[in-house]
Amino acid sequence: MHYVSTRGRARHLGFEGVTLAGLASDGGLYVPGHWPRFGEDEIAGMAGLPYAELAARVMRPFVEGSLTADELRDLCGRAYGRFSHDAVTPLVQLDQRQWLLELFHGPTLAFKDVALQLLGQLFEHFVAKSDDHLTIVGATSGDTGSAAIDAVAGRERIDIVMLHPKGRVSDVQRRQMTTVRAPNVHNVAIDGSFDDAQAIVKRMFVDRGMNSRFHISAVNSINWARLMAQIVYYFAAALQLGAPNRRVAFSVPTGNFGDVFAGYVAAQMGLPIERLIVATNVNDILHRALSSGDYSASDVTPTASPSMDIQVSSNFERLLFDAGGRDGLALADQMHGFDAVRAMQLTEEQRRAAAALFLSARADADDMGRAMAWAHECCGEVIDPHTAIGLHAARQADLDDGVPVVTLATAHPAKFPDAVERATGLRPPLPARVGDLFERSEAFAELPGTYEAVRDFVAERATPSS
Ligand SMILES: *Cc1c(COP(=O)(O)O)cnc(C)c1O
Repeated sequence: MHYVSTRGRARHLGFEGVTLAGLASDGGLYVPGHWPRFGEDEIAGMAGLPYAELAARVMRPFVEGSLTADELRDLCGRAYGRFSHDAVTPLVQLDQRQWLLELFHGPTLAFKDVALQLLGQLFEHFVAKSDDHLTIVGATSGDTGSAAIDAVAGRERIDIVMLHPKGRVSDVQRRQMTTVRAPNVHNVAIDGSFDDAQAIVKRMFVDRGMNSRFHISAVNSINWARLMAQIVYYFAAALQLGAPNRRVAFSVPTGNFGDVFAGYVAAQMGLPIERLIVATNVNDILHRALSSGDYSASDVTPTASPSMDIQVSSNFERLLFDAGGRDGLALADQMHGFDAVRAMQLTEEQRRAAAALFLSARADADDMGRAMAWAHECCGEVIDPHTAIGLHAARQADLDDGVPVVTLATAHPAKFPDAVERATGLRPPLPARVGDLFERSEAFAELPGTYEAVRDFVAERATPSS
């Protein structure tokens, strides 16, 4: 498989290359040169496979040329061996129509583990082979940071520098990052929002000076391998509900558009997805873009679902590329226009292609609280604020009777105990697997939200590439 940049100019890379790269050198994101497609019989033949086996089957076409089938199976086995549920991503029924896909059974209690446990294995495999040293630089709205740190802590050939917006992640989220004391882990709280942190990271990927000294890699969902790993659970859920003979809809609590883009890829690969519902909180740029074509960023409003407090969604560029006929140079112009004024209109072609698969909805704090209360009172399920936003959108969606709707349960409720307690009166306890999180001491640097401060911090701590 070869990969192309959404902005048309960067050189094509194989799977190993895109896994170890950050942004493409033209500022774009890598996407597969074509979508592999499974026939109905092939999809039917995946029913009942253990998760790690299914993962190897679904991802196989994307890694061709970089990993053998056996290597991929081995890495999947290791990545998914650390989940606390045998099904890895179990499906739970709420009522006749509504289902939850629980993606939070990994080590750091959010769906990010599903992709990052695999990415950690891939990094280790590729750096060992090439005798290189990687510097991972990432920005987190809360959950990516802890999942990435857990996946690479203590690995000798990898340094990780993780930026989080100061005071805007939950205590559990922060402690899951800052209490990991390994020499290769560097946490930074920056003054500013997640979008500010993400902009700093993106700038570092195109800084020639930094890239000539360090091999800088991404763990954010701009990394293709992460999205690839997330395709698998759409297959897992749909197969359990009767695919390929039955169509299934998914509702996805969305921030950076990574998780829901994985669903889009699953549909391109032949999985019968009726609709993908993009659920946002009041930071609703994606809802506006999909419902009216208006992609214009305003300021970020902090909410009880901090992992979705995002205005500029990196992966939306991947959809605009594919939906707009894969014209990289035209998209580069469109994105440069957006960068200049933080606003743009989708083209007619982009809107039409997106409307064929996506629905969208926005939930405010009351909608979220009501969805949490409904899940608890009617179905005995305690859900987290992000999941509640997805469930609100799922229950509102205008779909044919008989189409089951699966809401992706993206975080364990104990990660956001205050919001859960407000809505349900219950304070969910942390599962035993996270241990004595509140007893351990924290370590993190504090920096102003400027590019130069972060660049100098990274340059002082990272190991140059070989
Ligand atoms: C990251 C995250 C999201 C948003 O996912 P994207 O891929 O950025 O759209 C939603 N919920 C939780 C709990 C998250 O950690």
